Amino acid sequence: MTNLVHDADMIAASADDWRERDLAVLWHPCTQMREHPNTLPLVPIERGEGAWLIGRDGRRYLDAVSSWWTNLFGHAEPRIARAIANQAMQLEQVILAGFSHAPAVELAEQLLAIAPTQAGREPLTKVFYADNGSAGVEVALKMAFHWFHNRGEIKRTKFIALENGYHGETIGALSVGDIPLYRRVYAPLLCEAMFAPSPDAYMARPGETAADCAERAASGLEAMLQQHAGEVCALILEPLVQCAGGMRMHDPAYLRRARALCDTHGVFMIADEIAVGFGRTGTLFACEQAGVQPDLLCLSKGLTGGFLPLAAVLATQAIYDGFLDDSRERAFLHSHSYTGNPLACAAALASLAIFRDDDVLARNRVTAARMAELAAPFAALPHVAEIRQTGMILAIELARDGNRHTPFDPALRIGLLAYRAALERGVVLRPLGDMLYWMPPYCIDNAQLQLLAQVTAEVIEEVTACV
Ligand code: PMP
Repeated sequence: MTNLVHDADMIAASADDWRERDLAVLWHPCTQMREHPNTLPLVPIERGEGAWLIGRDGRRYLDAVSSWWTNLFGHAEPRIARAIANQAMQLEQVILAGFSHAPAVELAEQLLAIAPTQAGREPLTKVFYADNGSAGVEVALKMAFHWFHNRGEIKRTKFIALENGYHGETIGALSVGDIPLYRRVYAPLLCEAMFAPSPDAYMARPGETAADCAERAASGLEAMLQQHAGEVCALILEPLVQCAGGMRMHDPAYLRRARALCDTHGVFMIADEIAVGFGRTGTLFACEQAGVQPDLLCLSKGLTGGFLPLAAVLATQAIYDGFLDDSRERAFLHSHSYTGNPLACAAALASLAIFRDDDVLARNRVTAARMAELAAPFAALPHVAEIRQTGMILAIELARDGNRHTPFDPALRIGLLAYRAALERGVVLRPLGDMLYWMPPYCIDNAQLQLLAQVTAEVIEEVTACV
C-alpha cells in the first residue's frame, strides 16, 4: 500500500515536472499564456488509445472533440500507424516538383473517385497538395484569383465569404474569416473580402424556418454578386456547419442556391470541407447533402485519419487548364517543402481503406442516433437554448434564460468553466463561447457516449447553478 501511494505521488510529481518544463519553453496555440498555470490546467498526455487520451499522471480523458476535429477512428489506430511505419521504411519524403511517388498518386486517384459530383457538371479531376488546412485554403484562393488573372480578367480581385465563417489563421485564410476574436487585430494586414449573410439557422428571425434563413441569406449573396459583378473571383464557404463559428448549421438548400448564383455570375465556388469532410456530417462530404459540386474543394484534418498534417485541394479540369501555357508566370508556382509528403499520403490511404473496410458511415448513423437520444433530455434544462445536430456533430447552446436572444455575459466565461469542470471529470469538452459540442472520434462506444452525456449534464448544471 505504501509503495502504491508512493508510486502515485511519483507519477503526479512527474506530470507537474512536465508542466513546468513545458511552460518554460512552449508557446501554445490559441491560448492566452497568462492563463497558465492557474486558470487553465495544462494536461501532459503520454499516449492515446481509441477515444481516450491518457495523461502522464495516468488519468484518462475522453476526447470528445477529436483533438481539434482531426481524429477519425481513435488515437493510435493500428492500421494507420502501421501504414506510416511501413512507408517510413521505404520513402519518408521527396520533393514533389519534378518527382512523383505512389502514395501521392494513389491518394489523388482515390480522392477524385469519391469527391462530390453534380449532374451536368465537369467532375473534379486534379489534386494539389498542401500541408495543413490554412495552407490548403491559401492554395484555393490563389488558384481562383490566378485563373482569372491568366484570362486577363484582372479586376476580379475580391472574395466573398460568409459572415461567421472560419477558414484558418494565415493571412489569406484569415482575410476570408469573420470571427472577430481571431481577425480584428490583424485587420490592417488582411486582403479584400466581402461577407455575405450567413444562412445560420440559429439566427432565424421569429417565424422563420431553416429553409427561410437559407433563402434570405442567398438573396443577400445574390445582391452582393450583382453589385460587384466582374470584381469577384470566388465564394468560399463551409458547407452545412460553420464549425469554429460555433457549430452553426444551415439548410442544404443554401448550398444549391449559392452554387447556382456562382454559375450565373461566373464565380468559383470553394467548399472548405476541412472540418466537415470525411463523414462528420453524416455523408462522406457535406456537399453531397445538397447535391452540389464545388469548383475547388479543400480537405485536411480528417484526411489522414488525424495522424499527420496534410491538405488536398481538388480542382476542375477547366481550372487546371487555365494554368497551361508557355509562360512560367502563368503556372501555379505555389509550393510547400512537404507538399504531398509520402508519410501523410500513406496515412490518408490507410484512412480511406478503413472507410471502405469498416463501413464507417453506416456505423456513424447508429452512433449519431444514439448521440441525439442521449442529448435530448438537455433540451429541458433551463439554460439550454438549443440542441442541434448534423451527423456526428452535436451542439448544445447555453444561454442566460435558455433563450437564444439572451446570451450569458461573456465575462462569466461559462465555456471556460465548463471546460474545466469536464476535464476534472475526465472528458475533453472544449466549448466555443458558451456552446458545448460533441464531435467525437467515430470509434466512440455506447458506454463512452453515456459517460459523455452524464458529464455534460453535470457540467451544465454546475456552471449554470450560480447565474
Ligand atoms: N477551415 C476550416 C473550416 C477549419 O475548421 C480549419 C481549422 N479549424 C481550417 C480551415 C484551418 O486548418 P488548419 O488548422 O489545419 O490550418
